[in-house]
Amino acid sequence: LSERLGGVFDRLTKQGALSEDDVKTALREVRIALLEADVSLPVARDFIARVTKKATGAAVTKSITPGQQVVKIVHDELIATLRGEGDPGVLKIDNPPAPILMVGLQGSGKTTTTAKLAKRLKEREGKRVLMASLDTNRPAAMEQLAILGTQIGVDTLPIVKGEDPVAIAKRAKTQASLGGYDVYILDTAGRLHIDADLIAQAAAVRDVANPRETLLVVDGLTGQDAVNVATEFDDKIGVTGVILTRMDGDGRGGAALSMRAITGKPIRFVGLGEKTDALETFEAERVAGRILGMGDIVALVEKAQQTLEVEQAERMMKRFQKGQFNMNDLRGQLDQMMKMGGMQGVMGMMPGMGKMSKQAEAAGFDDKMLRRQVALINSMTKKERARPELLQASRKKRIAAGAGLEVAELNKLLKMHRQMADMMKTMGKKGVLKQAMAGMF
Ligand code: GDP
Ligand code: MG
Repeated sequence: LSERLGGVFDRLTKQGALSEDDVKTALREVRIALLEADVSLPVARDFIARVTKKATGAAVTKSITPGQQVVKIVHDELIATLRGEGDPGVLKIDNPPAPILMVGLQGSGKTTTTAKLAKRLKEREGKRVLMASLDTNRPAAMEQLAILGTQIGVDTLPIVKGEDPVAIAKRAKTQASLGGYDVYILDTAGRLHIDADLIAQAAAVRDVANPRETLLVVDGLTGQDAVNVATEFDDKIGVTGVILTRMDGDGRGGAALSMRAITGKPIRFVGLGEKTDALETFEAERVAGRILGMGDIVALVEKAQQTLEVEQAERMMKRFQKGQFNMNDLRGQLDQMMKMGGMQGVMGMMPGMGKMSKQAEAAGFDDKMLRRQVALINSMTKKERARPELLQASRKKRIAAGAGLEVAELNKLLKMHRQMADMMKTMGKKGVLKQAMAGMF
């Protein structure tokens, strides 16, 4: 998306309020990106309509392009849609033993996620957890959970051949009460597709277990299908939360957005691998960034809005274009850089600046140096700042001493200033300065 939007941004260099056309052009690309990320068509359409309403006529921060502004609005709206109420990582597991029911299609990751969740509850919350497999369809499924239990040091309900899922659920409940467990997790069987049998079985288990949480495990790579599954399970069984697995894969998280928009159920956790510790609390920001594929630009826009005096930046830009760049201007730039997280902060956020940032580092241009340079400039008189060409040996000595530094350091600063002034002049002539600054500010 960032590449495609890059093209749109280039066309959207006008400043001022966002016109309907600006918004339309940018959002056409966003809509395609959403569909590519497997967001369902009605959800994408509805989402775009909401963003259009918010974005049209929104004042553009003068120093960023309308395109960037649109992306920011899209990003914020994505987060608002993805985020459920409350803390996704906190499960309702008071009143021990609290039953948690895991449901979902076969292969979605229920058994693995059961173990991941048990490990998390044990290690992070010090809970005593019992796991029970209700998967009577596949002979190996119960063994699989038992093996995982041994690995993570969590008890599993002993396997009794020939029992049906409801009987196992009852036994798990008794065992959990008698054994003094805080939580017991019921790992159910899945099918490749939802059918009446599967739903009937899950409903029967639900009725005996009366779960505090019914967590639907969904393969995050399946996109649109996942949403149908979620709707069906929620209608028939009642779901309290969703866990998206395989978010370590190439899927772009579109399922998460559709799921939230259509079912309204909170996403609680995401699975990020096959290992038992690869479970993380769902973070709307991360998934939004993933869907747009451009979290960095959004971060840059946000920082720019927070820290920059826009008017001042514009005035500075006009001066630069005329080839005026004195020590005051340089100090303004250095101050701004420090506010935006230092050299690494600024460079790291700008696309394609990674290499330059390494070069700057190699040249010893780091945050310490930024501070030394500001100290040197502070040590100059007003006249010297405005006209650095005045600086002769005696003045240099005085300035360096005032900053507690060597003259050599001051010479480095002067050299850098000359290089930057030259660069500003050339860029100003070519008209690329404005674009570069739009990125910076
Ligand atoms: P179940 O049929 O729903 O119980 O699914 P399983 O828990 O047996 O998982 C099916 C396969 O998906 C296994 O090979 C798991 O290791 C794998 N798996 C589960 N969760 C994740 C995940 O978050 N990321 C990745 N890469 N693989 C996962
Ligand atoms: Mg299983």
